[in-house]
Amino acid sequence: MNDVNWRTLFQSDQRSVDYIHGLAPQTQMEQTLPCFRCGIVLPDTHITIDHHKPQGGGGDQAILKNLRNMGYNLTHAPGIGSVSTAFLNGQFNPVPTKSGGVVNQGDDEGKARRYTLTDRGAVFLSAAIAASSEQRVTDLCMHSMLNLKPYCAKCNIQKSNGLSDLQWIND
Ligand SMILES: [Zn+2]
Repeated sequence: MNDVNWRTLFQSDQRSVDYIHGLAPQTQMEQTLPCFRCGIVLPDTHITIDHHKPQGGGGDQAILKNLRNMGYNLTHAPGIGSVSTAFLNGQFNPVPTKSGGVVNQGDDEGKARRYTLTDRGAVFLSAAIAASSEQRVTDLCMHSMLNLKPYCAKCNIQKSNGLSDLQWIND
């Protein structure tokens, strides 16, 4: 959460926060950021960092997501979203939260294409694993900036219950 580029992407900023101490309303400036899903703005201390592709069994998905966003046609349909564009161009601009109405609606065939390796992708992944280990590659992808999103507690819980379908792919 301390990475400057990550903070830019997810709109971390100093904002006024309301408190009530006893009966006395007060505001104070704090470092805050919005939940990526619902948009509620909370102090850093109240935001959870979600592993977008879950740590429990999501390793393969995390690897595919990273390869998809590397921009070398490693999957059949490369990433085109704000985050992947930022990584490709090195220009980190704020990414709209999902509550802003920008939703990437893909059909199931589109999802399959996005997460299917090309021959080039398969060779690249094999070489990366041979040069280190499958666990190392999985760990790097799981903890990469591409896979970490800020969520409020409510959205993080809702999301973790929804892994039985493919909806998470578009998040
Ligand atoms: Zn939320």
